[in-house]
Amino acid sequence: MYEKRLDNRAFDALRPMEAETGVVPNAKGSARFRIGNTEAVAAVYGPEEVKPKHFEKFDKGIILCKYDMLPFSVPDRAKPGFDRRDTEISQVITNALNRAVFLEEFPRSMITVRVYVTQADAGTRCASLTAASMACADAGLPMRDLIAAVAAGSIGGKTCLDLTKEEEDLHEEGATDVPMGFLPSKDEIVLLQLDGKVTREQLKEVLAVGKKGAMEIYELEKEALKRRVSNESKS
Ligand code: UDP
Repeated sequence: MYEKRLDNRAFDALRPMEAETGVVPNAKGSARFRIGNTEAVAAVYGPEEVKPKHFEKFDKGIILCKYDMLPFSVPDRAKPGFDRRDTEISQVITNALNRAVFLEEFPRSMITVRVYVTQADAGTRCASLTAASMACADAGLPMRDLIAAVAAGSIGGKTCLDLTKEEEDLHEEGATDVPMGFLPSKDEIVLLQLDGKVTREQLKEVLAVGKKGAMEIYELEKEALKRRVSNESKS
């Protein structure tokens, strides 16, 4: 049984967070999101002409997203170049952003999203998706809502929010990780993955605690975007 978390957090508590937008001056929109020792920076470019041309869609725009872990983001130095994990995470982020951005407003155009993980301590796909959605909003793209993403899980049968890498590695305790992303005002799930085993009842609890955490992240994202707008109106 997992009675006390390794970092002494409450089972339904997020790690300390920071969110800010406009961190990459050369991008159309950008954002940084940190949760504990996991941090992602996202930059958005476009809408612009689609390259290569055969990706073009006549009735809507497309999003091309790349997720990358910087070599110094993990203790062992991440290998340069794209592996299967990077490709998978890029795809799940793209799928989620496709639901958030009104792509029908940009026919024959491409929006490029680059996400770099500067520090990784689990939950990087969720931090990256949160940063990417804030960067899209910062770029002024019309959106159905921001995306708030977080992982929750189960360790030794106990439901936990926002697992650290050390917690994810508690294999003997049967750690299970469920990354999830929401469009909160639409009550829509845009990312849901599962690494490990859970019962149906546990999964319900994990989703509920994840949703509660995502709502806290959503509030922080909105505050960061409001700060940016009020700073711009002052300058
Ligand atoms: N990780 C690592 N090296 C790698 C890939 C992952 O050290 O090449 C660590 C990193 O802390 C990451 C964690 O393993 O956050 C969990 O990775 P996972 O694939 O489950 O995705 P994530 O939880 O980051 O979305």
